[in-house]
Amino acid sequence: MEKTEKVQCLILGSGPAGYTAAIYAGRANITPVLYEGIQPGGQLTTTTDIENFPGYPSGISGTQMMEDFREQAVRFGADIRSGLATKADLSASPFKITIDNEKVIEAQTLIIATGATAKYLGLPDEQKYAGMGVSACATCDGFFYRKKKVAVVGGGDTACEEALYLAGLASKVYLIVRKPFLRASQIMRDRVMAHPNIEILFEHNAVGLFGDNGVEGAHIVKRMGEADEERYDIAIDGFFLAIGHKPNSDIFKDYLELDETGYIKTIGQSPFTKIPGVFAAGDVADTIYRQAITAAASGCKAAIEVERYLAECEYKECKKQ
Ligand code: NDP
Repeated sequence: MEKTEKVQCLILGSGPAGYTAAIYAGRANITPVLYEGIQPGGQLTTTTDIENFPGYPSGISGTQMMEDFREQAVRFGADIRSGLATKADLSASPFKITIDNEKVIEAQTLIIATGATAKYLGLPDEQKYAGMGVSACATCDGFFYRKKKVAVVGGGDTACEEALYLAGLASKVYLIVRKPFLRASQIMRDRVMAHPNIEILFEHNAVGLFGDNGVEGAHIVKRMGEADEERYDIAIDGFFLAIGHKPNSDIFKDYLELDETGYIKTIGQSPFTKIPGVFAAGDVADTIYRQAITAAASGCKAAIEVERYLAECEYKECKKQ
């Protein structure tokens, strides 16, 4: 295979944003090349069933849904490849993206749909019970815990939001906060504190999970490392992480504007970055909604803008590239 390849449209990421961009760009005869990244199918492949994506009245597994997206993109000519973008040079068009530290793609347009990765505590039990009671998305998985007991880890706005969402479904929500206070905004703090179904465990850390068929409880520690440290167990059916997300934007940080967490800043609600021809879609640029349907919609917008950009290029110099 050639070490350098020129393409009209390069899409990075294989979640709903990347695949939707590929479907639209494919149907526009642009023949996009899509690299799947480190987790083919993206974050949805780590959840159980998706029940809030319109068109699936009985729900669908995240993995199946992403396979369907992929198949649809292939049907319209998308060239889908495995590989991870390891370096980017967006200083001039065509944009140079290095894949797996070896091959360089020169792209006339680029859609960054590399997503975000939920942070986990790093406990081996989080892996052991993945998809069996451990989740990093209350909106995705909360429904499975109706009238059950759950714990949410974190003390920021996301944790409070997730706890409040879950409190409307579950019979009890423990909010496990490592500090003696919530970092969340005042309004969220007030709501969480006032909710009868939520018990806040300040100065607590979760250190393990247990259960024979999925999560049945968590081992927690109060005032860990202090002289008066206490260790005990709580019975729960679901364990939700809400300790932040990390957008997968590191390789673009020298070229694009990122916020303090690393989310790519786009212009308004559009997929435009500050570089013409470079677009961002999905969770890598979404600090608010982070849903499959909103990611898909932004992938669609990005592909439409790619089509417009390339059409304009017909009359300008980019054609010479
Ligand atoms: P934050 O970084 O604000 O909060 C993360 C929370 O997780 C903190 O309480 C932090 O604890 C805790 N935490 C981090 N690592 C660990 C760990 N290893 N063990 C235990 N606890 C841990 O992230 P969010 O996702 O909550 O919010 C990100 C940004 O998005 C914020 O600016 C927030 O305001 C915003 N946001 C706004 C919303 C809205 O306006 N509706 C909704 C959701 C988010 P500690 O405090 O000790 O560091």
